[in-house]
Amino acid sequence: MSDRLPGFSTLAVHAGAQPDPTTGARATPIYQTTSFVFNDADHAASLFGLQAFGNIYTRIGNPTNAVLEERVAALEGGTAALAVASGHAAQVVVLQQLLQPGDEFIAARKLYGGSINQFTHAFKSFGWNVVWADPDDIASFERAVTPRTRAIFIESIANPAGSITDIEAISTVARKAGVPLIVDNTLASPYLIRPIDHGADIVVHSLTKFLGGHGNSLGGIIVDAGTFDWSIGGKYPMLSEPRPEYHGIRLQETFGNFAFAIACRVLGLRDLGPALSPFNAFMILTGIETLPLRMQKHCDNAKAVAEFLAGHPAVASVSYAGLPSDKYNQLARKYAPKGAGAVFTFSLKGGYDAGVSLVSKLQLFSHLANVGDTRSLVIHPASTTHSQLDDAAKVRSGAGPDVVRLSIGIEDKEDLIADLEQALGA
Ligand SMILES: *Cc1c(COP(=O)(O)O)cnc(C)c1O
Repeated sequence: MSDRLPGFSTLAVHAGAQPDPTTGARATPIYQTTSFVFNDADHAASLFGLQAFGNIYTRIGNPTNAVLEERVAALEGGTAALAVASGHAAQVVVLQQLLQPGDEFIAARKLYGGSINQFTHAFKSFGWNVVWADPDDIASFERAVTPRTRAIFIESIANPAGSITDIEAISTVARKAGVPLIVDNTLASPYLIRPIDHGADIVVHSLTKFLGGHGNSLGGIIVDAGTFDWSIGGKYPMLSEPRPEYHGIRLQETFGNFAFAIACRVLGLRDLGPALSPFNAFMILTGIETLPLRMQKHCDNAKAVAEFLAGHPAVASVSYAGLPSDKYNQLARKYAPKGAGAVFTFSLKGGYDAGVSLVSKLQLFSHLANVGDTRSLVIHPASTTHSQLDDAAKVRSGAGPDVVRLSIGIEDKEDLIADLEQALGA
């Protein structure tokens, strides 16, 4: 073996996986079991007391899921990861380790519509208060910091318009405030952007999207960068204080630079319960093997479609950071030089009615609420994913009434353009 470090595409195929030690199976087997037999009573006790690593019960960990965790941690450059049932589950589990009732977190207001909903409404019942900031105005994050702030949450490439966030600038604010920066890297995937390289402390994903990539399995993942000191000012008792659940051990002291991933597993996933099915882990692992190939094709197609739309007389504007004229193009060149992703919006001169009509006339594009599928997808956010927002908030989050969102797939770009042409022209 040479001592060179494997490249991204090699890690996408191999990281975390070995031929199965008992059967020689080369693909990672689906360990479709709820529970695992202990060697003896001492082994069982040491697993339960966190003195040994090993399998107990699939709600806490599973060997198929473990390969997925190791692979995504490697692709993101983190110390460890935890797979969960969905992207939303990842967000709940992360924030449960960081916030006590009455605490706050700052979130960029350009987010996946479901996250805006989760943060505004569901988290209120836990006593977690979201404070919104504008990702295009870094000072708005600074102004939002209070003594109760416990985290900052942003998307690297933000829904729905595919805008690019200045991760390094916001990470500087987080560092000054003494709180971790959480980056939802779903729309970029680590192929385009690795947030940890730019100062993120925690990365979350909806695996449902580009990582799984085929629109067939839900999943989520949390990646620990291993960069944050959880003993700061007693703000993070789940990590720094003795845990009564585990005979008084302190997770940071015991697990060092992967303590956050451990906390998410043994305090979050164990007790809240959103475990990923090993079957879904297998499907997502298979998807990740082709991530670099797919992601490049997604981006190349998206750029071609965005250029076509920008030149069409029925189109009022296109928001795609990969276009040289776009206001996020500078940030795209810095953070995502291989491509600006495949999710973006455009608006039609004919407004709301033209948007609804376009969606109904498209044939190759599927009209549905998802992104990051091999297939090209279309949706009208104002009447669907962002419908819970009032009109001003819709516009602020990039989902005004005339806006259509596309997620460009890996079909032939000529066919995608032809479909848009017939639907716009007719
Ligand atoms: C889909 C999505 C989520 C939520 O993920 P689920 O797997 O649907 O729970 C979170 N963030 C972003 C950016 C997403 O696109």
